[in-house]
Amino acid sequence: MKERVSIFYGSMLFVILISTTLVITISNNYQQHNKKLESELRFNANFVSTWLNLIYKHSHNVLEGMATDLHNNHLLTVPFSSSVLKEQKELLSIEAEMLVNASNVFAINNECILVNASSDVGADLSSREYCKQIQESTEHDIFTDPFVNLFGKIVVAQGVRVTNKSDQFIGMVGILSSLDFFSSALNSLHISTNSSVSILSSDLMVLATNGSDSLQVGSRPTISKESTKILQGLTDNQEVFFEAMRKHHGFNQMVFAKKVPGYPFILLVSKPKYFWADYAYISIIFFILIISFVIALLMKNTVLLSKLLSQNDHYFKLALHDELTGILNRRGFEKNTKQVLESAKQDPISISAVLFDIDYFKQINDTYGHDKGDEVLRRFTRVCQDHITHSDVFARLGGDEFVMLLPNKNGQEATQSISELLDKIRMIRVETPLGEMNISSSIGISEVRSSKESIAKWLDRADKALYQAKNKGRNCVVLTV
Ligand code: GH3
Ligand code: MG
Repeated sequence: MKERVSIFYGSMLFVILISTTLVITISNNYQQHNKKLESELRFNANFVSTWLNLIYKHSHNVLEGMATDLHNNHLLTVPFSSSVLKEQKELLSIEAEMLVNASNVFAINNECILVNASSDVGADLSSREYCKQIQESTEHDIFTDPFVNLFGKIVVAQGVRVTNKSDQFIGMVGILSSLDFFSSALNSLHISTNSSVSILSSDLMVLATNGSDSLQVGSRPTISKESTKILQGLTDNQEVFFEAMRKHHGFNQMVFAKKVPGYPFILLVSKPKYFWADYAYISIIFFILIISFVIALLMKNTVLLSKLLSQNDHYFKLALHDELTGILNRRGFEKNTKQVLESAKQDPISISAVLFDIDYFKQINDTYGHDKGDEVLRRFTRVCQDHITHSDVFARLGGDEFVMLLPNKNGQEATQSISELLDKIRMIRVETPLGEMNISSSIGISEVRSSKESIAKWLDRADKALYQAKNKGRNCVVLTV
């Protein structure tokens, strides 16, 4: 039992150790994967941010050059002469070719009258959103928030103000930059697999995206109120990393967001967390396999162990017991007798030993067969067992010879008790094909003189008494002193 308990606790400890190791490994994997994912998304966001910055810096530089040209050539004044117009158009078309992000290049005077464009020269643009923003602004560089133009496209207006020598506002050159351009440009950028990049306005509308099916131009991403607040409050270069509410192909999306410094854009870079999921599945399957293996091992061990223990019990019993009758054998008798004698602390002690030998047993075997002989041995045993008390020791020495130790009985008391037992033995009736058979026993009794006296000595005296009983014609009890 003790072994079973320690195997159980040992195995539990093993399972706990394995589980703890796996939990630590899984959580380390999780953290490592998150860190890797974060740096990958940060890299993508910084890449796109730098790219946007470069494009708009370039268009800004071109616009600065155009502004100087227009100013130096007095080309921002109305009314126009046809020669001026021609000259302006040529100038702008050359410059415009250098501006990949421009869907329209224009020049307006201080009253927002279009003084140069591919068409509509002379048009009053003062009611346009960007013109209002330009007139309200005192900045040299103008960059409007995204707005929808007359053709339903999302655009931003970028421009530089032109002033005369006395620093008076005389007009502006600018471009309308369509965000469509960025969608197609994002698609051709080599951004890591399964990662999606979107450019959002300050109020979180998708302006451009690399075609990921999770976000559409003009829509707003599904993010929690809390994240929305954080995103809208982002300052230049500030960045956040969070988990999106929306799942993509069943996997959670990790999102990295960053405000593009100097421009009204927020970059949203996301990637599904399924690599982490892969780690988790592998770890969980591995975990289940190990647990199953341990349980199987445990069950096998328990079965083996209980078999071993019951075998052990069996052999232990066999070593001290007689197989046929189930009572103690000679070794068992000696072991128990020693214990009885050790507990009989003081002399004089009052203990008797009794030896039995069934009369004419050989003849029983010969006449009725060995099996009947066995039955006689078992019936004899049962009658004796029923007679004795729990403190008495009863054993089969071998063949048809039995021994009894009666503590607390002197020779006289033992003789009386055993004579009563002999009466019961005589009453035994065994059915045989030749009719009922009865048995008798010759019995010798001796007294154990001292607790220190060897077993062999008092057994020898009892044997002599038994011999006398046989000589007296059997079927009787003889006490020796
Ligand atoms: P006595 O009256 O002098 O005791 O004569 P007996 O015939 O009983 O002679 P003895 O005690 O020497 O005979 C013992 C016999 O017991 C001899 C042996 O064949 C038989 N025997 C020994 N062990 C077993 C056993 O386990 N089963 C059976 N059936 N017989 C056994
Ligand atoms: Mg005999």
